[in-house]
Amino acid sequence: MGPVQPAKSATTAVPASVAEIEHRIFGRERTADEAILGVHIGSYSVRAKDPEIVANAQDGGAVSALMLYALEKKIIDYALVSGFTSREPWKPAPKVARTRQELIDNAGSEYTPGGQIGGMAEIAVPNRSVVNFQEERLTLVGLPCELQGFWRMNTHWIAAPKLGRNLVFTIGLFCSKVFDYQKMMVDYVQGTRGIDLGTVTKVNIKKNRLLVYTGDRLAIDEPVEVLAHAAREECNICVDYSAELADIAVGAIGSAAGWSTVLTRTPRGEDILNGAVESGYLEMKRLDPAGKAIKFLETLCERKRLRDPSAYIRHSTAFARPEPKLMVLEAPTK
Ligand SMILES: Cc1cc2nc3c(=O)[nH]c(=O)nc-3n(C[C@H](O)[C@H](O)[C@H](O)COP(=O)(O)OP(=O)(O)OC[C@H]3O[C@@H](n4cnc5c(N)ncnc54)[C@H](O)[C@@H]3O)c2cc1C
Repeated sequence: MGPVQPAKSATTAVPASVAEIEHRIFGRERTADEAILGVHIGSYSVRAKDPEIVANAQDGGAVSALMLYALEKKIIDYALVSGFTSREPWKPAPKVARTRQELIDNAGSEYTPGGQIGGMAEIAVPNRSVVNFQEERLTLVGLPCELQGFWRMNTHWIAAPKLGRNLVFTIGLFCSKVFDYQKMMVDYVQGTRGIDLGTVTKVNIKKNRLLVYTGDRLAIDEPVEVLAHAAREECNICVDYSAELADIAVGAIGSAAGWSTVLTRTPRGEDILNGAVESGYLEMKRLDPAGKAIKFLETLCERKRLRDPSAYIRHSTAFARPEPKLMVLEAPTK
């Protein structure tokens, strides 16, 4: 890697606070070549070898296979994944996976946020969680915003560092946006389209299309614009597409159908990926950093960087600030 260079353009500039966090995580700033994708070591197309993982995964099953490798080689004691709440189908919630079966049960993507950092807090704070996992080692899968939030809390002087004390590595998912659970799944998929959420087996957003499966049947195949009203407003200020603060970032863009694109960002992430390949959990092809696939990924990252991260202040949708009630102070008559 070359020396630190200024970012290539205004849209690729990293805010100073993020650059500082990156320095803490990676031990260096990004180079000019990494201005768009963020700090990384390698880029790969990856597919799980376990047929049950492949059958249940969103893309190539890279995330579940990497976690399975880490569990079975005792690199971690458990993985914090995103599963479903028992009462509301397709409503994500953080879940602990300690076995292959639990990883398979929680594979696949939910396009509404599940609150992985809340799960970390439950684990980290003694006596608050039902079961106290705090002395065990874990990995976490999360969205770019969740990892951004996690590292902002973890590197801030006032935050509790124990939130990440036993976190061995993180896996981040590429993400352009998430949707509101009620508006997307309940009101649209169930309400407007009349699909019982209990029968949905897979939700995918690919090439700007919303794809919803019930068993092997493709029940919805429509332009994703039908969900425009359900997109979460918070995503308008997020500029991180490729999970820039993860040890290992994973997505679909850049790979053939049925494969996952993987960016290793830390030496630990690279070791875990190589270990999983050498131990037969994954097959892997190297992606050419100057090739079409990575260039397309960079285009999507650049597009997301055009959003405005400075707009943290609430605007028109926020409640108007109430006018104060003016008390009439009467002057004492005597
Ligand atoms: C909201 C969202 C938006 C996405 N947008 C893009 C995109 O624009 N471009 C792109 O290339 N890829 C995107 N992805 C990533 C893609 O859908 C796959 O998750 C990724 O390719 C990994 O596939 P896999 O087969 O390797 O993972 P799997 O082996 O299927 O494992 C996926 C893991 O992700 C966890 N997970 C599922 N949903 C969530 C969630 N909401 N929050 C946190 N963890 C979760 C699961 O628990 C599981 O452990 C998005 C994912 C999500 C959840």
